[in-house]
Amino acid sequence: MTGSRDHGITGADRAAVEARGETFYPGPSGGSLAAYPPKERWDDWVELDSRAWPERVERHYALVPTTCFNCESACGLLAYLDRETGQVRKFEGNPEHPGSRGRNCAKGPATLNQVTDPDRILYPLKRAGGRGEGRWQRVSWDQALDDLAGRIRRAIQEQRHHEIMYHVGRPGEDGFTERILAAWGVDGHNSHTNVCSSGGRAGYQYWMGLDRPSPDHANAKVILLVSSHLEAGHYFNPHAQRVLEGKQRGAKLIVFDTRLSNTATHADHWLATYPGSEAAVLLAIANHLIQTGCYDREFVRRWWNWRDYLARERPDLPVTFEAFDRILRDLYREYTFDFAARESGVAAETIAQVAELVAGAGSRLSTHTWRSAAAGNLGGWQVSRTLFLLNALLGAVATEGGTYPNAWNKFVPRPIHVPPHPRTWNELSWPAEYPLAMNELSFLLPHFLREGRGRLDVYFTRVYNPVWTNPDGFSWIEVLRDEALVGLHVALTPTWSETASFADYVLPMGHAPERHDLHSYETHDGQWIGFRQPVARALRERDGQPVGDTREVNPGEVWEENEFWIELTWRIDPDGAMGIRRYVESRARPGEKLGLDEYYGWAFEHSVPGLPQRAAAEGLTPLAFMRRYGAFEVARKIGAVHEQEVPRDDLQDIGEDETGRVYTRAPKPDAMNVVPLPTPDPDAAGRRPVGVRVDGKILRGFPTPSGRLEFYSSTLAAWGWREYALPTYIRSHIHPDELEPGEMPLISTFRLPVHIHTRSANAKWLDEIAHTNPLWLHPTDALRLRLRTGDLVRVETAIGHYVVKAWVTEGIRPGVVACSHHMGRWRLHEPGQRQMMAPAALSRDGSRRTLSRTGEVGPYASDDPDTGRIWWTDVGVHQNLTFPVHPDPISGQHCWHQAVRIRPAEPGDHPGDVQVDLERARTEYQAWLARTRPARAVSPDGTRRPYWLLRPLKPPKDAYALEASRA
Ligand code: SF4
Repeated sequence: MTGSRDHGITGADRAAVEARGETFYPGPSGGSLAAYPPKERWDDWVELDSRAWPERVERHYALVPTTCFNCESACGLLAYLDRETGQVRKFEGNPEHPGSRGRNCAKGPATLNQVTDPDRILYPLKRAGGRGEGRWQRVSWDQALDDLAGRIRRAIQEQRHHEIMYHVGRPGEDGFTERILAAWGVDGHNSHTNVCSSGGRAGYQYWMGLDRPSPDHANAKVILLVSSHLEAGHYFNPHAQRVLEGKQRGAKLIVFDTRLSNTATHADHWLATYPGSEAAVLLAIANHLIQTGCYDREFVRRWWNWRDYLARERPDLPVTFEAFDRILRDLYREYTFDFAARESGVAAETIAQVAELVAGAGSRLSTHTWRSAAAGNLGGWQVSRTLFLLNALLGAVATEGGTYPNAWNKFVPRPIHVPPHPRTWNELSWPAEYPLAMNELSFLLPHFLREGRGRLDVYFTRVYNPVWTNPDGFSWIEVLRDEALVGLHVALTPTWSETASFADYVLPMGHAPERHDLHSYETHDGQWIGFRQPVARALRERDGQPVGDTREVNPGEVWEENEFWIELTWRIDPDGAMGIRRYVESRARPGEKLGLDEYYGWAFEHSVPGLPQRAAAEGLTPLAFMRRYGAFEVARKIGAVHEQEVPRDDLQDIGEDETGRVYTRAPKPDAMNVVPLPTPDPDAAGRRPVGVRVDGKILRGFPTPSGRLEFYSSTLAAWGWREYALPTYIRSHIHPDELEPGEMPLISTFRLPVHIHTRSANAKWLDEIAHTNPLWLHPTDALRLRLRTGDLVRVETAIGHYVVKAWVTEGIRPGVVACSHHMGRWRLHEPGQRQMMAPAALSRDGSRRTLSRTGEVGPYASDDPDTGRIWWTDVGVHQNLTFPVHPDPISGQHCWHQAVRIRPAEPGDHPGDVQVDLERARTEYQAWLARTRPARAVSPDGTRRPYWLLRPLKPPKDAYALEASRA
């Protein structure tokens, strides 16, 4: 690396820029200066007004950074604020952002559409009729806050903590709201994660104690992706640009994807695996590495917990690496290329070629899977577990070009106040049937409520649309309509959604340039923080006009969550008597409310190494620096943390178990970086685990019970799933042997590159590019079913059916159908989002529920002339309504793939029609619930859950006891 800064940019990149006669940009982007306005001119950047052409009319802009909120990647944006009007004219990439390096996908610049969306919600609204009737009245923030604060206060005072729930989709921040809930003493955090990434996370968590990978694609020799990461995966834009860098440097790209995705088109090897067979192929590759001796024995010897495996599963053998090495060959012998070919439908020769390629990668194998197969299948969590097995065999763990544990490439600054976590356990989110679930069983909430497991007094949904996003949406509608089950539903949302229409309050929250949040994600081997901020406020402050409350600069009465939560918390405990208010008090001005300048200023000043010095060098405070540049690189080249020796100060009165796990009595040092990490149990003497002895040295290791990579998961073995304790293959619920005659697997999970769930429907540029979701069907299947492109078909699931247009394409493997999940938005009433939500009506007949379109999307008059130019009418179908819940009994992940029957539509069917039987939905729920091994049956120690596993809010250990009160 010879770049002036080592952001993955090489001297060759610089030379290429300079060879074009351009000036190299000396920041993370490393591109041509021509691509980015130099930061010295961000106060007054001049461009010619394209609309005035051919006249040369100059426009003066102030450039203010923020962070994109259209997916989880948190790429940097630069807002171009017109100096004359104060309005944002466009968003481009922020070249100072180490993760995105000045680049964005289409959804970044389309943030402008969301800001100017004529249908956005600008004022707090309260329901004026029955829930879901669509009648609203405008209320003041004060009215809403006092109502909410009163109810929450009463619930806490009456020990009904579990009746308060905050249900979040995309958090877009690092722990602010968890801390608010902790301040309230409420175990009320609920997430979307079990309909998203729990499967992927579980596989990684059982291996390394950390639930995500951080692949170093740019430096890899071989990149193996299970899914379409180049266009839609986790950390899409930051990773995609590094995948392409890797390819430009000669890396080979292997892609597993049943569809011919844009990612597959860039692959050197595309494996169109039968859905659910991915782990079988990965194990065949692993077997090849083992049988041919192409694995890193030293790494395996030093870092795998093979001693645990031998001690617990093979007491007949000596606890020596030689003994383990010998039996390793037997463990995977059955996973031949032929076996994998039979399961996956991919030719054995192709799998063999790919295995050879992987074998040649050595420690430069970068791998990634996230949702995709891990989220589609029963046992999908074994996809990430078997994928990481390849890294673990090759020693490609925390190596250049390998795959890092995510927590090492992430930095969460310690905040000004850290309330203790609640002392209660909410069984509505963490039921005892799923002791190993990675996250809350959020999508089962309607069933739990209807079974009488509890009720909700105050239910917040935030950046979350469960009626649309979750499976079994009609069950959600049923409980959201039932005031006995959900006392008050508060939708915190910038835009209308199917769920918001069943709320009591709809409170308008800001888009990316209208709010504060702090971010850090594992985009590469480095650590950075990104700062989302209200850009108009930042500019005013830059110009010397302080702003008290973000509502002063936002459109209408749009607010931001952070100021909202502080205000609400203050009103819950106005005199501080409940011990809650202190967590939102100013330190600088005791007894006064904490402001966000102080909140973020404190973290930047006290918890981000290097930032105060860097800011001072420019004559700025740390907060002013972050407001000006929007991001800061904390560290790069973190390297192999597990190989670091534990400092002497951390070793006091140490103890060591037979496998080398080392425990200490040294107090835990205060960390600036507060990335949540698992907390393995202390030893019998109460000492905390601090490292692991490897070849005589005490190294940091991994935050697993053993301190090593857990090839053998003692947790799975101890909690009733011994047969899955090793990386293995679990046949999916849509395995060919599970299908009835005439059924086919449906892939319903794939994203389109220009949309994100339901949050981008208010972006007209994106809607114009993609607005419908036809059913992908291979020509051989189309011929068999006598279907052509454009024909209407019924897709029948276990609980109902939907009607959609067919798209016949060779881009899907024969025998499988696919339908993207973004589309099919609907609205029952005005107001609503009119660019992508079609008018619709709901009806009921016994247990049968129907959604029918009553009109189409079309042009309409508004402040934005473009809405009069809407030419699309077909916005697809809401297929998730027809999916029953499929909770994986171990990870808790909803297994999205469906066994379906496809047949031509019937007379009277219309595109977008949906019909579901709620009784069948309940039967399916019960059938999947019966697959679990509840804590009461399998817990080895009378607790609800292994204490070491991550949990967003982690009650003290006594609350883990099965007999403990759930209050
Ligand atoms: S990948 Fe695209 S949508 Fe996601 S944060 Fe980056 S620019 Fe925004």
